[in-house]
Amino acid sequence: MRIITLTCPSCGTVVAANELEDNRVMKCPGNGCESILRFDDLPEEERSFYLEHKSQYRL
Ligand SMILES: [Zn+2]
Repeated sequence: MRIITLTCPSCGTVVAANELEDNRVMKCPGNGCESILRFDDLPEEERSFYLEHKSQYRL
């Protein structure tokens, strides 16, 4: 399975696509980091891939 993640531009915390998709907009889970991460921040190609293969990420 392809791993799709978004790296926080401020602190480098890596967030999995399924967490982003659940929340759409979420505060970075990094310690003390106030950045807002969005599913839409993923590249278009990765978003499409994730949505097409969503069931594989829910196991
Ligand atoms: Zn962060």
